[in-house]
Amino acid sequence: MNNFKPADQIQDLQYFGEFGGVNPSITDSSTFTFLQAGKMEEVFEKEIEGCYLYSRHWNPMNRYLSQAIAKMEGTENASVTGSGMAAITNAILQICSAGDEIVSSRTIYGGTYAFFKNFLPRFGIKTTFVDSTNMDKVKAAITNKTKVIYCESISNPMLEVADLPNLAKIAKQFNCKLVVDNTFSPLMISPSILGADVVVHSMTKFINGSSDCVAGVVCGKKDFIDSLSDVNNGASMLLGPVLDSFRSASILKNLRTLHVRMKQHSSNALHIATKLSEDGHKVIYPGLPKHPQHQLLKTLWNEEYGFGGLFLIDMKTKERANHLMELMQESNVGYLAVSLGSYKTLFSAPGGSTSSEIPEEERKEIGLSEGLVRISMGLDNNPERTYQMIKKCLSLV
Ligand SMILES: *Cc1c(COP(=O)(O)O)cnc(C)c1O
Repeated sequence: MNNFKPADQIQDLQYFGEFGGVNPSITDSSTFTFLQAGKMEEVFEKEIEGCYLYSRHWNPMNRYLSQAIAKMEGTENASVTGSGMAAITNAILQICSAGDEIVSSRTIYGGTYAFFKNFLPRFGIKTTFVDSTNMDKVKAAITNKTKVIYCESISNPMLEVADLPNLAKIAKQFNCKLVVDNTFSPLMISPSILGADVVVHSMTKFINGSSDCVAGVVCGKKDFIDSLSDVNNGASMLLGPVLDSFRSASILKNLRTLHVRMKQHSSNALHIATKLSEDGHKVIYPGLPKHPQHQLLKTLWNEEYGFGGLFLIDMKTKERANHLMELMQESNVGYLAVSLGSYKTLFSAPGGSTSSEIPEEERKEIGLSEGLVRISMGLDNNPERTYQMIKKCLSLV
């Protein structure tokens, strides 16, 4: 455990609007004027604080939101992007070149898996997938070409918890960067405090929390974040996944309530997962003592945010999984939809949807069966009532 208090870091940020507004003003501009031509040349060469050139490069609202997320993660800086995938692809392409290798956890978000497995080989970048809960296997996969060790702090969809301090140790030992996707556990886990070099998020999920937009962020050391927006070599500047300032503004406002929401997501999930498990259903949730990394998580977490808002029920077959989800939608437990971290409960069967990019054989190996239903608990006021609703649905399957 550590003494890092991410919510206090966010709370202490003060941004005023143009006329003393209590929220910062949105700059409704793609481009920015200069009083002296020489200053414009300078900004092309290096970042100058408070000086803006063009909105794909930086704009004030994206700076505010980036700074707030950097405070939350305890990194020197951050850079917001138009999606979580943009954050991941830009961070990786900034670090890796042709000939380099990545050692990645084998249980990761399907899109990231497809990017590593199918897309990066076109550019001569090879990925080895390993059981990242086994440090010997991680070490054995590293070669002198490895530049990145990649994992999710709590993995999608299997909810494996990464042993970040030990992975960080290995990364240091072999001179590679530990890149961690912290989408499932904002505030709950602070990967950078535990030794990660780069932290990425899909802000589409818990950070924004209202299922109304797609966004991402890369967090890291100042030099690394500056390199992303370098006009000659920066992945963000050149690939251009810019986040719109209006969206940045709304995400920043939602970030202000993230600590309240995370606690409610977690306590709801713990209540319902515990009860369903006691009823004899096969439930995977890091908050259950039988979860293989339950103890580990308790050594890594920022305790007040609990064990997270996601759990899985194994319904054994695809038909039963689908039946349960349809019943839960009909009875308004939530929505049958991909994505997570919303105020409303969302559920999907990852085997046939968000993880379908992973070949069947590999899905079997990691325990990703077709009968799994992933539930992202919403902010329901009365989790016992929701549990009773789910129990009734389960009795009908
Ligand atoms: C959703 C998700 C992503 C991708 O983010 P988008 O915002 O949809 O591009 C990446 N990693 C994880 C763990 C996710 O859940």
